[in-house]
Amino acid sequence: MRLVVQKFGGTSVSNATRIMAAARRAIRAKQEGRKVLVVVSARGDKTDELIELAQQISEHPPAREMDMLLATGEQESIALLAMAIHTLGEKAISLTGAQVGIFTDRTHGKARIKEISTERMRKALAEEQIVIVAGFQGIDEDFNITTLGRGGSDTTAVALAAVMKHDPAANGNKHEIACEIYTDVDGVYTTDPRIVPEALKLDYISYEEMLELASAGASVMHSRSIEFAMKFDVPVQVRSSFSDVEGTWIVPESPWMTEYPVCGVALVKDEARVAITGVPDQPGISHRIFQAVAAKNIVVDMIAQNVGTGGKASIGFTVPAGELRATLTALQPLAQELQATIEHDAEVSKVSIVGVGMRSQSGVAERMFEALANENINLKMITTADIKISVLVDRADGLQALRAVHRAFQLHVPRPGAGLPVAGQSLPVGSLRDLTALKQRLADMEGILVSEIKLDTSQGRITVSGMADEAGNCHRLFRAIASGGINVDMIVQNLTAGVPELSFSVPLVHLEEAKKLAESVLTELGPETRITAGAKIATVNVLGVGMRTHTGVARRMFGALAARGINISMINTSEVRLSVVVDRDRGEEACNCLKEEFQLA
Ligand code: ASP
Ligand code: MG
Repeated sequence: MRLVVQKFGGTSVSNATRIMAAARRAIRAKQEGRKVLVVVSARGDKTDELIELAQQISEHPPAREMDMLLATGEQESIALLAMAIHTLGEKAISLTGAQVGIFTDRTHGKARIKEISTERMRKALAEEQIVIVAGFQGIDEDFNITTLGRGGSDTTAVALAAVMKHDPAANGNKHEIACEIYTDVDGVYTTDPRIVPEALKLDYISYEEMLELASAGASVMHSRSIEFAMKFDVPVQVRSSFSDVEGTWIVPESPWMTEYPVCGVALVKDEARVAITGVPDQPGISHRIFQAVAAKNIVVDMIAQNVGTGGKASIGFTVPAGELRATLTALQPLAQELQATIEHDAEVSKVSIVGVGMRSQSGVAERMFEALANENINLKMITTADIKISVLVDRADGLQALRAVHRAFQLHVPRPGAGLPVAGQSLPVGSLRDLTALKQRLADMEGILVSEIKLDTSQGRITVSGMADEAGNCHRLFRAIASGGINVDMIVQNLTAGVPELSFSVPLVHLEEAKKLAESVLTELGPETRITAGAKIATVNVLGVGMRTHTGVARRMFGALAARGINISMINTSEVRLSVVVDRDRGEEACNCLKEEFQLA
């Protein structure tokens, strides 16, 4: 059976004309011989209007009633779309989340999908109906209506595609499934074309790249929907509802993609930076700091924790600018207790580069730092992930930084996969063959998936402290390292009391050489600069899907390590990996206690 899930966002069903256009698109797919499942959002700004209305009535509306209210937006669209299809002479049936059997947990306002029944959809599809499902909503065990969080219709669409693809009731009769997301842009671009007009549309992007770009500021799709796609091998196409132009395919990673270090760059304009200095360099401190922030429901973005000097450590992180006040208030008591100082910076932006090719290519960070140095832009914080490097700059420099980085990686030049065809490339297929694993995933569709915990003792660390806080220093340093062809893995830079503290890791076999290369530029980095190298580190990597959208994962990791008294000297977080650096002689123990914590032992 060939099945397509088409999702129409709010703008694509905002009025009668557009609803008719969506109806025609669904009918066309049907006439091409496919089964058609349609997911719709609420019309236009309906959800915002409903929220405003509720606020006029109650300052704190009960969460249950809020979901009851918001779910009506989607109910309106499914009925109208079904009518439109009937008018055009095709069979269609509209179904709410409850009618389909989309079961979620009880968290009103940001519920997670647990299980989806395929029975009703399958039956209606067998009757040749176009099945129209309300996005963004589900029900809990007691049949209370829940909603998935703003933008959640994308997640409904991909989740439906996932259950239909792996439907146990289909008796091995595999469905060929694609998910099309119709929206007001015609695809995913190398960066926001409204800011950088020469940005190119990508024909393909891997799940992981899309996830990282989304968290880096590219707001094309709901992150949780991409996690579904990745976890259940669902190819997704983002395309325009206003034209027939091919959009962007979000698919499993292909080898050709790794030839390009960077596929896209993104900007988060309104961030705020918080740095805590003078905290004792002891196990459990970062755990307490992030716990205090998480208790106020504030989501931490970048984290730069660096190895301590003189028994004191510093921890820097960013939060959305609007949450700065609440963050500072939350940290006040702890800072007093620890006799630590808090500094903050309300006017910063984050610029990130993302690409699977940077895993294996050296000099990628250096190229980014060079582009920024040439514009005389200072880096206040640096964090890296497997396929992402983020820097924090003054907000006034944000746009210029984004453009400079886009140019430096030549993202405006058409290449295979972005403006040019990829030779001999058919759609890559995923590899979800383990049936037990699949069954588990289907039983708790949005549960945290920690798939592996790995110990890496092949890296050493170089720490550069006391560097002058000037544009260009990181470029000088990493240019020297890159000149030796040395692949840098993790980079963490934090700024405390106006002094950048930077650490990075390189393969142990290159540690001495990297140190020499760093020392060769020592005098250029400022008179106070000191360089030390440490071979006795271990990196523990926790791999999975949803590592950041489930904020609890990081907290559990810090908590488990703190309980064992294991000190963390560096932290790295991404959508699919959390990494911590600990002392070499505690590495094994750290790895085992995390396996226990996440039940992988
Ligand atoms: N209508 C909901 C919202 O506006 C869900 C969605 O559009 O995806 O957030
Ligand atoms: Mg909407």
